[in-house]
Amino acid sequence: MKDYITTSLFDIFKTGPGPSSSHTIGPMKAALGFREAVQTMDSPPDPAEATIDVHLYGSLSLTGEGHGTHKAVLGGLLGWMPEDCDCEQLLALLDDPETVYALPFAKGNIAFTAANIHFEGSDPLLPYQNTLRFRLAVAGESLLEREYYSIGGGFIQCKGEDEPERPKPPYSYGNMNELRKLLRKSDLTLREVMLHNEEALTGKTQAEILAGIDAVVAAMCQAVENGLATDGLLPGPIGLMRKAPVLFKNAARMKRETGRSLARLNAYAHAASEENAAGRIVVTAPTSGSAGVLPGVIYLMKKHFDFTAEQFRDGMLAAAAIAFIAKHNASIAGAEVGCQGEIGVASSMAAALIAYASGLPIKQVENAAEIALEHQLGMTCDPVGGYVQIPCIERNAVGAVQAMNAFILAEAGDPARQKVTFDEVVEAMMETGQDMCTKYKETAKGGLAVCCVAC
Ligand code: SF4
Repeated sequence: MKDYITTSLFDIFKTGPGPSSSHTIGPMKAALGFREAVQTMDSPPDPAEATIDVHLYGSLSLTGEGHGTHKAVLGGLLGWMPEDCDCEQLLALLDDPETVYALPFAKGNIAFTAANIHFEGSDPLLPYQNTLRFRLAVAGESLLEREYYSIGGGFIQCKGEDEPERPKPPYSYGNMNELRKLLRKSDLTLREVMLHNEEALTGKTQAEILAGIDAVVAAMCQAVENGLATDGLLPGPIGLMRKAPVLFKNAARMKRETGRSLARLNAYAHAASEENAAGRIVVTAPTSGSAGVLPGVIYLMKKHFDFTAEQFRDGMLAAAAIAFIAKHNASIAGAEVGCQGEIGVASSMAAALIAYASGLPIKQVENAAEIALEHQLGMTCDPVGGYVQIPCIERNAVGAVQAMNAFILAEAGDPARQKVTFDEVVEAMMETGQDMCTKYKETAKGGLAVCCVAC
């Protein structure tokens, strides 16, 4: 691994269908990758004789049905992209196990049914828990095989393929300590460092990057608005009712402004998270499972605290820096470190967003991010029934509230006297995640997933 970060803003903030970036966006991208590999074969087989089989491992198998992984894989094989696929069509895929789908390839269609997707359980010998194996065959003879790893936040790796090389950013850093030193030495602001690096990594202009951030913020706000406007049951056997519209109505009836802000924040985070649970379009921040935390905070700041577009740009750049450091030095995948890596990091990002957008200096931005994550260390991932609903939706609301509180504590504190650094809390998260029993890492085999009999 390089000792500096080469992640782009738009690697972290990706638009796509819920309910889990590891289980939907990542697998869809893997299937698109395999589709591309089939399309570019030197001697493609006769489609009428060919079969494609997909084998899912780890939590993609154990919670894959609840997360819609099989649907995302088929969507990718059909050529659908996460950022612009039709969520309703995606949700309807494979509802009938007898339906035969025609996968369109240049030389013709390959038939595909639910029987071509195999839920294989766990394989401890695999290098990464969440693995997908694709196989193209004719009469049982394998012609093309690929193995992909879904490593969290919608990121994928293909076995044997190097990640595309990105240039070293001009202001490179690998952790918060290095970032702080570089800001001091260069006399640049965090915003300037992030924008210069993003230009070098992606070749985009600053205007394009800022427009991209605006679009991400707009998509997050749209998810909140869609969630506030929708009630009824969420999909799946749990029978969980959406709660965001009720929370929003209750907030409007509250007499005191303090309680009202808190109730609104809960409503907004619930709204985006419920959209995610329904398999609708959300933005990963850093994952889909945690896609209610940042939108909740952003929508509150936009609607009730008059934050400007410039403040959101600053805040999103700070939030991205936090996600980069957490991903580079630990993980943002529930399957790797539990929910501390998803809601914990999302909360940390949101705390940094509020702090930097409010004009706090970098040390207090760091403190806000550190406090938010510190109190979520050890948080397990145990989704009931394998659905991103319980505890995930409420946990997004609690994570958003935690972010606000971390900001309040950091703003009141003396930065010079803060004892725990962000790098230390990230290190603690990684160590805790490595020691965490596998059943608490997105397998639905421990904790609430077995103690709660909701489904
Ligand atoms: S418990 Fe947390 S990490 Fe696990 S699926 Fe839910 S939101 Fe994601």
